[in-house]
Order: sequence, then structure tokens, then C-alpha cells
Amino acid sequence: MTENQITTETRGCIVCGKQYQMLVVRDVQGKFIGAKVMSVGGRTVTGEERPLVACESHSEESVDATVQRVFHAEDEKEE
Ligand SMILES: [Zn+2]
Repeated sequence: MTENQITTETRGCIVCGKQYQMLVVRDVQGKFIGAKVMSVGGRTVTGEERPLVACESHSEESVDATVQRVFHAEDEKEE
């Protein structure tokens, strides 16, 4: 039987760095499955295979742009 591991981690907002407590769920191999922000004012950033948090006050566009810049900068080149 396999059991997921749930840990509490402190993560900074990817846009501004404000810190949030979040529950992170991983499987027995340590693969990231999901996360839930415990602190008020934060939300998880979906679509990435890692626990990411952002303030609810940031727009979807600015969060997405930051994710692209931080994690996918080598995927696309901008002139
Ligand atoms: Zn923020």
C-alpha cells in the first residue's frame, strides 16, 4: 500500500516573495502531487510540477508571466 506524504512548508510568493504556509502532498517517490495554501491571502499556482504560491492580489497574468520567466526562460526567447 502506498501513502502520500503531506508536509507543511513555507514558500514565498513567486511574484513578490511574501511568505505563506502551505501543505504539500507528494507520493511515496517524492513526486509532487498537489498543494494547498494555509495562510490567508495566498493561493496555489497550478500547472507546474512543484509547489508554488502567489498572493491572491496578483493577477493571473502577472503570476503566469513570472512563472514563465523563472521556470521557462530557456523555452522561449524574446527579442
Ligand atoms: Zn505576492
